[in-house]
Amino acid sequence: MSDNFEALLQESRIFEPPAEFKEKAKVADLSLYEWAERDFLGFWADAAKDIEWFLPFEKVLDDSDAPFYRWYTGGKLNVSYNCVDRHTKSFRRNKAALIFEGEPGDSKILTYQELYREVNKFANVLKKLGVQKGDRVTIYMPMIPEAVIAMLACTRIGAPHSVVFGGFSSQALKDRIDDAKAKLLITADGGYRRGSIVELKKNADAALEGETTIEKVVVVKRTGQEVPMTEGRDYWYHELMADAALYCEPEQCDAEDMLFILYSSGTTGKPKGIQHTTGGYLVGVHTTFKYIFDYREEDIYWCTADIGWITGHSYIVYGPLSNGATVVLYEGAPDWPQKDRFWEIIEKYRVNILYTAPTAIRTFMRWGEKWPKGRDLSSLRLLGTVGEPINPEAWIWYHEHIGGGRCPIVDTWWQTETGMIMITPLPGVIPTKPGSATKPFPGVEADVVNDKGEPVPPGQGGYLVLKKPWPAMLRTLYGDPERYKNTYWSKFPGWYFTGDGAKKDEDGYFWILGRVDDVINVSGHRIGTMEVESALVEHPLVAEAAVIGKSHEVKGQAIAAFVTLKEGVEGTPELVQELKQFVAQKIGALARPDDIFFTAELPKTRSGKIMRRLLRDIAEGRALGDTTTLTDPAVINKIKEQYKDEG
Ligand code: ATP
Ligand code: MG
Repeated sequence: MSDNFEALLQESRIFEPPAEFKEKAKVADLSLYEWAERDFLGFWADAAKDIEWFLPFEKVLDDSDAPFYRWYTGGKLNVSYNCVDRHTKSFRRNKAALIFEGEPGDSKILTYQELYREVNKFANVLKKLGVQKGDRVTIYMPMIPEAVIAMLACTRIGAPHSVVFGGFSSQALKDRIDDAKAKLLITADGGYRRGSIVELKKNADAALEGETTIEKVVVVKRTGQEVPMTEGRDYWYHELMADAALYCEPEQCDAEDMLFILYSSGTTGKPKGIQHTTGGYLVGVHTTFKYIFDYREEDIYWCTADIGWITGHSYIVYGPLSNGATVVLYEGAPDWPQKDRFWEIIEKYRVNILYTAPTAIRTFMRWGEKWPKGRDLSSLRLLGTVGEPINPEAWIWYHEHIGGGRCPIVDTWWQTETGMIMITPLPGVIPTKPGSATKPFPGVEADVVNDKGEPVPPGQGGYLVLKKPWPAMLRTLYGDPERYKNTYWSKFPGWYFTGDGAKKDEDGYFWILGRVDDVINVSGHRIGTMEVESALVEHPLVAEAAVIGKSHEVKGQAIAAFVTLKEGVEGTPELVQELKQFVAQKIGALARPDDIFFTAELPKTRSGKIMRRLLRDIAEGRALGDTTTLTDPAVINKIKEQYKDEG
């Protein structure tokens, strides 16, 4: 990605941190950055002081066996102790830890003292069922407090968890259970989603058919519908909890003990079992949560991700709870019973910090601004996004219609692999530019380089790499250290290769261009899918767009765009011409799409990301690649049919 492609979308708007925000912000000047730059290890050693260690660590970073880095070696700690026990020893014991909002409208608040009790009891339950330190536990749950309790209970006894998103099929669950060789499964009878019941227990039963490593299943009663229970294997959560002892001594885990395995979203191919460990992960998510969300003691914080994704792990559970934060946990869909459910929740609880995904924001845009307008969102003071590059149009909409023009937006770039946010503004000090994740977090070194590993000049696309290890980094891929080395450390020896393309601007701001695999090469010019998509989304009739390159005899690749329109808009041949022209005007003639297809929906992973590789398969007439992580396989089949007819 070394050539210079000039006519990039020049996003020139800059938003300074609002004075009022800056005044009270945790970080209001650059000293944190300067310190981390001066003394990388000292910075991360100091960050670890926020964590309570049973035994202090000897060394901050051990790189003797790179890329198998080890952090905080010799240290002993327990994650549940840090997320719960220590808060029960302060004024926080009576503070809300979790505010749960069920989709049907039921709600429940757990204070830190109550969460402590439940975690201890469930840790005892796990032990009683034979789970020992090091045994893997799979969690397949709706977004209910018991899911958080289960995760924390696992960490209390040192049993790594593998959370599988509750929207996954039985086959996807089975694959993940088998890969992790899990011993115990925690699930629920069902969960609520868009007014109907997700049959979790039924899927779990199907996943356990035939050979399995699972010995016991714990079932939480959520919906109350009839489910079959297998004698000797399945147990009701509430029955086990009824006579569980109240205290469970937290395991003294080594900093490098495995904390969890989490399978990546599968946007680019087969999901990878990403392995995180205890000490570095906790320090990383604790520190980033504190500074990036500028968390204050009285804040109510809501991250709309699912706990089945890394965002849920790091920024619903471990980062916030280790900081003693109050976290909103919402079970269901954003459009149930109405399209203003998110805004209703913000109004109801007076949420101060909202962290969500570009895909959600684009959906809200499509639904129209009347939905947020009808609710009081004045409690919000900070907004965040994660998961995909955010199109500048969507950024501006979020800023205006949700943030009321007064809330800074933290656009956070990171991955399941990185465990913690890596590139992001600190909201009190870094001016933001719509569509840019801005700068690396203090103590993180990122760069954009060409094939040879040389830094590229401002404005040019290249590979996004991380030049220094960081505490919350993955340690390996579960059971496959070779794949770990090959995937991340072989392209640029000594540096971590992210798989994403990016460019830096004159101010050193990072602009993520999308996946390297997605970058399109038109007549020798590299064009980021993101740039063409953002141009399309700027058109007032367009809701969302996915852009891909398809083989072209002359140009090498030609651009094809799959476009969804705003509600009520009809896709006509005139609109096709208009959109092609629109892109050519915004970016340049080179970026003018050859084909534009209107489609009702785009294929997305269950974490909401556009799966361009499947669209590429269609455009090139290939068999579809791995579709197991698609939200709705019907969408891709429909597009395939339509493409055959029109394409
Ligand atoms: P897989 O690795 O299995 O293909 P995935 O990469 O989608 O799946 P995640 O770890 O959930 O799995 O996502 C990380 C990726 O999401 C990043 O590599 C990047 O492409 C994208 N991403 C996340 N946050 C941002 C952001 N703020 N801006 C741009 N891209 C982002
Ligand atoms: Mg990835």
